[in-house]
Amino acid sequence: MPPRLRAQVGGLNSLAMPFDSPALVFTFAFAAALLIGLLVKFWLATRQMRHVSRHRDRVPSPFESAISLEAHQKAADYTIAKTSFGIVEMAWGAAVLIAWTLLGGLDFMNKALLGWIGGGLLQQLALLSAFALVSGLLDLPFTLWQTFRLEERFGFNKMTLRLWLLDGIKSTVVGALIGLPIAALILWVMGATGAFWWLWAWGVWMAFNLLLMSIYPTFIAPLFNKFKPLDDAGLAARVNTLMQRCGFASKGLFVMDGSRRSAHANAYFTGFGASKRVVFYDTLLRQLSPPEVEAVLAHELGHFKHRHIVKRMGALFGLSLLGFALLGWLSQQSWFYGGLGVQPNMNAPNDALALLLFMLAMPVFGFFVAPLSVRLSRKHEFEADAYAAAQTSSGDLKAALLKLYKDNASTLTPDPVFVSFYYSHPPASERLARLGSS
Ligand SMILES: [Zn+2]
Repeated sequence: MPPRLRAQVGGLNSLAMPFDSPALVFTFAFAAALLIGLLVKFWLATRQMRHVSRHRDRVPSPFESAISLEAHQKAADYTIAKTSFGIVEMAWGAAVLIAWTLLGGLDFMNKALLGWIGGGLLQQLALLSAFALVSGLLDLPFTLWQTFRLEERFGFNKMTLRLWLLDGIKSTVVGALIGLPIAALILWVMGATGAFWWLWAWGVWMAFNLLLMSIYPTFIAPLFNKFKPLDDAGLAARVNTLMQRCGFASKGLFVMDGSRRSAHANAYFTGFGASKRVVFYDTLLRQLSPPEVEAVLAHELGHFKHRHIVKRMGALFGLSLLGFALLGWLSQQSWFYGGLGVQPNMNAPNDALALLLFMLAMPVFGFFVAPLSVRLSRKHEFEADAYAAAQTSSGDLKAALLKLYKDNASTLTPDPVFVSFYYSHPPASERLARLGSS
């Protein structure tokens, strides 16, 4: 433990009395934020389900000619099933969070590992790994249910149990290979660089993120999917002309076998520098005509033209700096540990504990600012749509959006309040209305 904290913890006599009063106040604030957040989420989910089921019997008039009643009802049922699954998941998540913190799960794990390995970098790494492992196992039933029950029921799941297991093993191994060295580096920085460690740790974390983004398309994504160069010459010519017209260079057009796992369709523009590439899901190419694919890609290019990616990265950098500064301060407060059910170590570093508690507690308080970020995202989607309409044709983009909403069984009648809290993309009705009636 850094000497600063040791002195303070001793001063507050928090070993003898872990729940001194600032800790109690923090426990109370945490529990209140968690409870209010749960109530708001539950209220939003029930609103959404009620709203969707109220509009289940009739296709909204602007879509009458394009969407059948059957497709509309499938979307309604899928939305309701997903939302009620979300409620169960949310309740489970809250129970697990309380078990980790106030009920002493993390404290128990920390002490057990201390007794076993002793204090030091190895113990801290073991704590992070054990936490990740147990969390992953606790989420497992939900991932299984979602893939093999929920998605399966609506015909979206294309995964076999074997592929699912293989994915799980691969991502655990890749996660450990990438995660352990960076965790060790951050923990070392926290312990070795003095009072401003959080600034150094932030620098390391940002550099790591940039590195990950640049190696992801070429080294990590291919571990999970096959990427083949786009062999449709007509479509490739179309896409290349579009990219030239918009002033983009790319290192290639690829088709990804998304259909191995799911029937949901997508396209993305990924990487930066030399590894920049356009990736189409095979499912997308199957569902859309070439002009529609072109319009979807133009939308993605719109995000680049309007510098949304750079802005989002800037926001990420800024918010992470704030986060690390906050963590730097919190990790020195004994009430931060005591208030979340953990006794800080007296003769060993507390850095891993501080990291974990921060990761657990932040979303509870951060939930209330989430609507701001999705609101900005919806604004960006409108801008990208407008760009695509100008570069290609709004008719093609509208046709493509309609097909994608239909094939993904996205509801056309979401609850407006639910939308304002959660939707990173505007609902179909708003997007199509903005694209005009051409
Ligand atoms: Zn977009």
